[in-house]
Amino acid sequence: MPTPDELLGQSAALHHHLCPRQVLGVRMGLLAGRELGLDLPQTGKRLLTIIETDGCFADGVSVATGCWVGHRTLRIEDYGKVAATFVDTDCGQSVRIVPHPGARALSRSFAPEARNRWEAQLLGYQRMSFRDLFTVQRVALTTSIEAIVSQAGLRAVCDTCGEEIINGREILRDGKVFCRACLFGGYYAALAMPTASTVLLNRE
Ligand SMILES: [Zn+2]
Ligand SMILES: [Zn+2]
Repeated sequence: MPTPDELLGQSAALHHHLCPRQVLGVRMGLLAGRELGLDLPQTGKRLLTIIETDGCFADGVSVATGCWVGHRTLRIEDYGKVAATFVDTDCGQSVRIVPHPGARALSRSFAPEARNRWEAQLLGYQRMSFRDLFTVQRVALTTSIEAIVSQAGLRAVCDTCGEEIINGREILRDGKVFCRACLFGGYYAALAMPTASTVLLNRE
């Protein structure tokens, strides 16, 4: 198992620097392994992690847990929070971990040599106990693990836009198949008709 310092090194290498949020991510991942009794970083897919923001924190969580977007073991629910829920998909046991509200202020006393607040957090977060650094709550997912993970090979086609939908993310309404963008409105709005090349590709 890699040491915490090795994990921080891996995160910093991904990220070209080490920063306080990567430290939070690495240590949160280590705590999750302890809480759930799992050996991390995993090479398989037993642990599913749902993080509540992107950015530096995400890299720390990934190296410590072995959960990656590319492995479909890391998902983002973007609440803009440095928080994450760790799910043991074998038994459904789940913990949500957030930084302790007093952690930022407390970091100073763990890094008396720090020249500024940023450095105090960078060093302090590596030295503080899990208890000083985080709050842990047992949680239950509101969507089933089976629905989140879905099955390999599922495909559907949206009746409205004609685009393919994988992983069971389509929605059936009044006997028609919808993608989320067509049913609920997407994060984008089309500005022009499809270009000629797009039209040609779609006809192939
Ligand atoms: Zn950073
Ligand atoms: Zn659609």
